[in-house]
Amino acid sequence: MTVRVGILGATGAVGQRLIQLLDPHPDFEIAALTASEASAGSSYREAAKWRIDAPIPEDVADITVGATEPDAVPDDVSLIFSSLPSGVGAEVEPDFCEAGYVVSSNSSNGRMDEDVPLIIPEVNADHVGLLEVQRDERGWDGALLKNPNCSTITMVPPLAALDRAFDLTDVRVSTLQAVSGAGYSGVTSMEIIDNAIPHIGGEEQKMETESRKLLGDFDGAEVRLNDADVAASCNRIPTLDGHLENVWADTAEDVTAAEAADAMADVSGVDLPSSPERLIRVFEEPDRPQPRLDRNVDGGMGVAVGGFRETTDGVQFNCLAHNTMRGAAGASVLNGELLAQRGYL
Ligand code: NAP
Repeated sequence: MTVRVGILGATGAVGQRLIQLLDPHPDFEIAALTASEASAGSSYREAAKWRIDAPIPEDVADITVGATEPDAVPDDVSLIFSSLPSGVGAEVEPDFCEAGYVVSSNSSNGRMDEDVPLIIPEVNADHVGLLEVQRDERGWDGALLKNPNCSTITMVPPLAALDRAFDLTDVRVSTLQAVSGAGYSGVTSMEIIDNAIPHIGGEEQKMETESRKLLGDFDGAEVRLNDADVAASCNRIPTLDGHLENVWADTAEDVTAAEAADAMADVSGVDLPSSPERLIRVFEEPDRPQPRLDRNVDGGMGVAVGGFRETTDGVQFNCLAHNTMRGAAGASVLNGELLAQRGYL
């Protein structure tokens, strides 16, 4: 059965990717688009400064953008994708859940709340059970589920593979993040051309906390954080899409570079339409993955890794994922598919 869906923040960088993924989706049909007051009342074609290198789907272009409030979304919409600035998300997402909508959200608000599942389906789909606790505690007919930050999504699948096989103890990561990760008005060309910015507000903390929740255990009542020690340093560089990350990982059990690569190559996707057949693509070439060449691996839904070597404390490798696809819109769509499969809609 086709599920009617709405998109909050539909005109933004992530919102446009959501439209690109949802318009041809086999199970979902776009029925409502919302944005700020400045856009509400205009057609999507007028409201969105479309920046994707494929035309706006014709049936979406003529939809009138609504205000971002539950009353503006038809009752027969059962799944909402949210790509709002986090302050706005914190205000309005609970209203949608209270009104009975199930929300799959990108926004960073609430990701670490104890009763909010933070999910990458190939890593911790079982955490979706936390929604029962959430509904009990909050009395919602709807529900709120989050995907992690784009830089966190890039490193957690490889780390999960290491944790399963060798018991992860310490992670150090340094990122080279694309400008689209800051949203359309995030970084100006004067700031970023011929430059690198060694600060992305709040990003290090998100990587350090969200990764431990994703790698944690759900016991039916709560998620116990993984006890690995994670430290991050985040940098913005002048690439358009694709976050590249240098990771140093230590494990309780000894691991060679080849064993680490093999553990990652073994991870398969899950039985959801947007999950790739293999989650992690391992490159043999020492200078791969690279953002321009490899961000679209598996339609932008794969994670690419390479450059494995042994260090005095474990292994070092590089990883890359498309930040607005696997790192944002694709992650939300995948979580929406999980919600549908598990009967939450
Ligand atoms: P963006 O390009 O700035 O888009 C923001 C969207 O929210 C636009 O549709 C905007 O509508 C709407 N909006 C702004 N203020 C609003 C308000 N007061 N009420 C209702 N709607 C409002 O941002 P983005 O990059 O798409 O990011 C969206 C969210 O996803 C953020 O929370 C971000 O942290 C998260 N995220 C982004 C990425 C990424 O790679 N970009 C990755 C992971 C997570 P108007 O066009 O009308 O202003």
